[in-house]
Amino acid sequence: MTSNPKTREWQTMSREHHLAPFSDYKQLAEVGPRIITTAEGVYLWDSEGNKILDGMAGLWCMAVGYGRKELADAAYKQMQELPFYNTFFMTAHPPVLELAKTIAEIAPPGMNHVFFTGSGSEGNDTMLRLVRHYWALKGQPNKKVIISRVNGYHGSTVAGASLGGMKFMHEQGDLPIPGIVHIPQPYWFGEGGDMSPDEFGVWAADQLEQKILEVGEDNVGAFIAEPIQGAGGVIIPPDSYWPRIREILAKYDILFVADEVICGFGRTGEWFGSDYYGLQPDMMTIAKGLTSGYVPMGGLVVSDKVFEVIQAGGDFNHGFTYSGHPVAAAVALENIRILREEKIVERVKTDTAPYFQQRLRELAEHPLVGEVRGVGLLGAIELVKNKATRERYPSEAGAGMICRGHCFNNGLIMRAVGDTMIIAPPLVISKAEVDELVDKARKCLDLTAEALRD
Ligand SMILES: *Cc1c(COP(=O)(O)O)cnc(C)c1O
Repeated sequence: MTSNPKTREWQTMSREHHLAPFSDYKQLAEVGPRIITTAEGVYLWDSEGNKILDGMAGLWCMAVGYGRKELADAAYKQMQELPFYNTFFMTAHPPVLELAKTIAEIAPPGMNHVFFTGSGSEGNDTMLRLVRHYWALKGQPNKKVIISRVNGYHGSTVAGASLGGMKFMHEQGDLPIPGIVHIPQPYWFGEGGDMSPDEFGVWAADQLEQKILEVGEDNVGAFIAEPIQGAGGVIIPPDSYWPRIREILAKYDILFVADEVICGFGRTGEWFGSDYYGLQPDMMTIAKGLTSGYVPMGGLVVSDKVFEVIQAGGDFNHGFTYSGHPVAAAVALENIRILREEKIVERVKTDTAPYFQQRLRELAEHPLVGEVRGVGLLGAIELVKNKATRERYPSEAGAGMICRGHCFNNGLIMRAVGDTMIIAPPLVISKAEVDELVDKARKCLDLTAEALRD
């Protein structure tokens, strides 16, 4: 099956030495991983020389496109000047300070301070500790519980996986940890039953109020949610959802945390998903698009309201060796400079995202497709057996995995979450590349329908 002898060698190394994240080790040992070797723009190349359109932006990360020399130069320059120094104990360095200031400029009004981490998961761990610290400083130490959503994704550390609502993650290792509770997700297509999307959106939002009342307002510290659930299957909430959530949040004294790890840095056509939906978070978790994935970095952006309390509180006994790593900060700064100077977020909003959404929706006519939805450069295609009733194929049929396989073999990366195909291309994708993406997706839907018939 392989034409390049190196592929075999790398696959052997994989089998013999590599524990890959979120992978079935038995299957990985049998089949071996696809080895991605190089990339440029929106394209990847594997070790067999196949050119693949990356419809998943690496892993929701890639904003400015692969192969940007400016980012490599920024890292090189910073490594020569100051490759590492910590930001603990009253020290700092120029890149971390300039980055914090830059993020405050693009963040929603009133969000002016950033705690840096190495990843989105660490950002959410920081959030949990900061929420509890905040309420303790306010003299309400019982406000510890964090409300989150079923099928949300907030990372893979103990706190991240607990905050997330992924059953298959909770099953391994006794999660969630105490103090984290979940409410249903606003996933109308999968769970809306006979309700209209708007009725269902209000119902799903009302679950937050129910949970606050059940746990007791005096025990709830925060509600965390992704503006649009990414890993859960690009769940676009019904229009009624966020306005109703905002009403509920206004009624109770709890913090609201927007997990912007996917939605942030332009994915929706606004700088943050919170801008897109008019949310006013007290904290925002960031990562992924912050550096376009060129180097690892995450963080937690904090509102003035929260900052004033924790500043007055003195020490915050929390930090990572790599918090605000100078090389990561320099790359993030350059990434944001490119996003701003090339007006990439504006282009997504006014040009490429409308085109992408229009073209993607053409696939709704396909016999295998029950719904196409999306916002900005996020999209989802629901595979169904019966369009009218939203009936799925039996899970043994593996419709999503079949489709994902056809995509991979036809030069397109689309991910499958169950039978939901999800798409999030790099933000620099052109209209011609959108055409290529949609044409390939259609072909793969045809091949999947054929395979399911047999
Ligand atoms: C990816 C992701 C995370 C976790 O980020 P890591 O860098 O993988 O730790 C958290 N929240 C959301 C919404 C994500 O998509």
